Formats: sequence, structure tokens, C-alpha cells
Amino acid sequence: MSNSKVSIIIPAYNEEENIYPVNEALEEEFAGLSYSYEVIFVDDCSQDDTLQTIRTLANTYPNVKYVSFTRNFGKESALLAGLQHAKGEAVIIMDADMQHPPSLIPKLLEGYQEGYQQVVARRDRNGEAKSRSFLSSLYYKVINKVVQVELKDGEGDFRLLGRQAIEAILELSEGNRFSKGLFSWIGFEKKTVYFENVERQNGVSHWSFKQLLNYGVEGILSFNQRPLRVVLYCGLISLLLGLIYIFSMFLMIILQGVDEPGYFTVISSILFLGGVQLVSLGVIGEYVGRIYSETKNRPHYLVKESNTEREEK
Ligand code: UDP
Ligand code: MG
Repeated sequence: MSNSKVSIIIPAYNEEENIYPVNEALEEEFAGLSYSYEVIFVDDCSQDDTLQTIRTLANTYPNVKYVSFTRNFGKESALLAGLQHAKGEAVIIMDADMQHPPSLIPKLLEGYQEGYQQVVARRDRNGEAKSRSFLSSLYYKVINKVVQVELKDGEGDFRLLGRQAIEAILELSEGNRFSKGLFSWIGFEKKTVYFENVERQNGVSHWSFKQLLNYGVEGILSFNQRPLRVVLYCGLISLLLGLIYIFSMFLMIILQGVDEPGYFTVISSILFLGGVQLVSLGVIGEYVGRIYSETKNRPHYLVKESNTEREEK
């Protein structure tokens, strides 16, 4: 499988100081490998000189390609653009800030040569702010309880995808993209390699706490409808409890007579109507959930291998 082409996808937002170093590091890595490669920088409409830097670089290196956005569409969109433009038979996705060490590339390619369509680089969280790593690990505990795909702490976008896996990702046309979940959703045999957490080289992280929070919510919402189901269950439980209370109060009145006129009527109608309303919301939620999953229009399955062609319609 030597001399095949690999595409390196690098989303870049305000990374002017990192463009040259990352390209240099890639050159060094590939010098010792029998693969040819292209680098695709996806400029997410940077405010600094990232685009000019990439242009200049591309003038010197014919294997440097770029795509530049009209506005900041976010990293998820940048990844999609990169995958759509990649010509290699495998892609490696990495950050521009050297937090994804290029020295891991030989290991990723090794996994690919062994036949894996996904080779994932998993990092430990040494050297990260305590609060952030605590929040992350908590988040993964919670999210894995609720979502229908498996997400692992420390597994990010740094990974190699084979052509089959790339095509699979591109088949998912949904608008709200949560790549981590998508990578897991498409399946395929997967190999994991490990690397140590490194600090960003130049510039600043573009994730504010609020963005991380939004990202987290996105992850939960795009891979399951359980929050909606929770509403339904809450409704059913409160309706049931309400009815039990109403019934027992009714019995008391029959046996002991009324001691607070009007109380029974008011409280029973509140409890009953409240329960009915929650249940109705839950039912509506179930339909909304189905509409949501239908609109994502995901394929029903992905085929890894078969010895028969599907009839074209
Ligand atoms: N990035 C992007 N668009 C954005 C924010 C970030 O393309 O709106 C890129 C950024 O240039 C970097 C990668 O996504 O290559 C990861 O960003 P960052 O290093 O800020 O995230 P962190 O490593 O802190 O999670
Ligand atoms: Mg980073």
C-alpha cells in the first residue's frame, strides 16, 4: 500500500503562527514514510493573517491546498469541508496548534496498513486545567449513560480515516454536526493509539467555557431523544401520584367528612390537569423526536463488505 496518498486536514482559525511549524513538522514526518501526502488547511475565516500565510505557503509547496470560509462556521464545518475536498485514500485530521503531535502519524498509518478504517489517537489529560479535566470526565460519564453511541474521554478529532470511513461520514448530511458522535456512529473496526497531552504552541484556545458547554449540550441532543422521553415519564409518574392522592383524599372525605371546604376541588383539579398536561407534552415530544431523527436523514446502515451489488432504483 506504499506510495498511496494521504490527505491531512487541518482546520485553522487564527493560527497564523502555527501554519509554518505544522507544515514543517509534517514534512519531517513524511520524509521517512513511503506515502505521498497533501495538506488541506481549512481557514475558518480567521481574523489574523492565517489565510495569507497559507497562500504564501501554498506557493512554495504544491501539496498544500486550502479552503477558506466566508465567515466563521466553526470547526465541525471545517472538518466537513476538509473531508469533502480530500483526494487521498486516507485522511488524517489534526489541529493546527500542534496539540495533536505529528510524530504520531507513523503510528496512525501503521494502523491503516493493518487494515483499520479508523485509527484514533487518544490522549491523557495531564497538564490540563484541573477544573476542565474534571468537568470533561464528569461529562463523559453522564453522556455515555444517555447517548446511543459510545464516546470516550480523550478521543477527539485527531484520527485517521480510510476511504470507506470518509464516504460514510460524508453520507451523513445532517446540519448539526457533532463529529465525535458521527465517528462513533459509522462504526468500522477501530484501533486506538495513545499520546500525551501537550500544551498549545502558539496563540490561544478558541473555546470559551460557554462554547464548551454548548458543545456538550449538542453532543447530548444530537445523539438521542431521551430528554424528551424523560418528560413523558415525569408526566406519567406525576399523573399517577396525583390520582393516588386525589383518590385517598376522596376516601377520607367520605369516611370523615369535609374539614376544609373547597380544598379538595382545587387541589384535585390542579394535580389532575398538571399530570395530564405533562403527559401530553411528553407525547408531543415523542413525535418531535421522531421528526428530528427523520430529518437527519441518516442512512439506515452502512456496509463494510458484501459480494453482491444492490439493485439501483
Ligand atoms: N478551530 C476552527 N474554528 C473555530 C475554532 C477552532 O477551525 O471556530 C480550529 C483551531 O484553529 C484548531 C482546532 O480547531 O486547529 C482546535 O481548536 P483549539 O485549539 O482552539 O481547541 P482546543 O485544543 O482548546 O480544544
Ligand atoms: Mg488546541
